[in-house]
Amino acid sequence: MLSDSDKKRYSRHLLLDDVGEAGQLKLSKAKVLIVGLGGLGSPVALYLAAAGVGKLIVADGDTLDITNLQRQILFDTASAGESKAELAQQRLSALNPEIDLEVIDYRLEADDLALYIPEVDLVLDCSDNLDTRRAVNRVCQQHKIPLIAAAAIRWEGHLMVFDFRQPESPCYECLYPEGGVEPVLNCSTSGVVGPVLGVLGSLQALEAIKLLLGLPSGIEGQLKIFDGKHHQWNSFVINRKENCPVCS
Ligand SMILES: [Zn+2]
Repeated sequence: MLSDSDKKRYSRHLLLDDVGEAGQLKLSKAKVLIVGLGGLGSPVALYLAAAGVGKLIVADGDTLDITNLQRQILFDTASAGESKAELAQQRLSALNPEIDLEVIDYRLEADDLALYIPEVDLVLDCSDNLDTRRAVNRVCQQHKIPLIAAAAIRWEGHLMVFDFRQPESPCYECLYPEGGVEPVLNCSTSGVVGPVLGVLGSLQALEAIKLLLGLPSGIEGQLKIFDGKHHQWNSFVINRKENCPVCS
């Protein structure tokens, strides 16, 4: 049962036929891992905390740098130099004191991912490096935990939803096999427009809410590419590779 204060807080959810009180209770029982608290992780964490996702585990090993503030909307100028994980805890618990927060102030390595991922219902990859992406994909696939991944650079964003509960789901490695053509992901060397990250992070949060409610994503197994400069979307079906070392 939702408390009276929850009914107020989530009233705009409760008005929706496919959320309602039952859906809100599903969100309140959900556990989600957010890997990375940068330009993607900021809107993801804010929206999922605001939506009342019951337990959020958020991980980032960095301290806040002034160069982050152009796009990382979770943080303020006065906090430069402080741990992003701890700042996220303060901000998210102030936004929604009802949810359970666990913050991890170091970069998750493969061993850590193997520990945390089996405990959650869903993982959001908001990281900015390929090693973490590959490791998150591998562990999610192994434990059949849905993965929502995004990336952005310059004016362009990528979004992928892998529902590994479906046996035929492709994976990130099918798209970017190790040793193949690697996506350019590092916005520290190439630059990025802040709102492109905001668009992609917001979409990650939206897809997460849908999956946690038990609604179909509609874009599972696809790569969605957003060209923010010309406002165009392109979609590609990710084919499952027969010899993929991760999913086949
Ligand atoms: Zn694969």
